[in-house]
Amino acid sequence: MEEDQPTRRMTIIVDTPTFTRRVDHDHFAPGEQVLIILGAKDGALTGDVFDVVAPSWHQATDVDGWRVRDPRGGTVSYFTAAPKYLIHTGVDCSPCVDYLRQLERWVLPHLTGEPGQRDTNSYRIVDGELVHIADAITADEAW
Ligand SMILES: [Zn+2]
Repeated sequence: MEEDQPTRRMTIIVDTPTFTRRVDHDHFAPGEQVLIILGAKDGALTGDVFDVVAPSWHQATDVDGWRVRDPRGGTVSYFTAAPKYLIHTGVDCSPCVDYLRQLERWVLPHLTGEPGQRDTNSYRIVDGELVHIADAITADEAW
């Protein structure tokens, strides 16, 4: 655990766009596909695509969030996410593109230098919720 701390601390500092992003719950709708940025690979941000399923309260941020489904299945195939973690994919959406560009500008420079997949360590699944580290610390959740 000790060796992970510098990376996590760095992520908190550089990922201001996610922490401060303001996006309405209704910006997303059931049936849409969304991208969640989880890392970087070969100089570009990478993430996984999820299906938006239904409204669900996101306790860690105290906002109306979304239940999303991982189409790949796995041990946690459903979880609740705050809208500010989600990026529209497959549709033209300038607010989401703006957020993605901000992430690239703030986060990417700190993840370059090594090829291959780099996890930003920004997220954890806690009690069925996806929680960004900055929100977990603000909510005083165990990380
Ligand atoms: Zn969007």
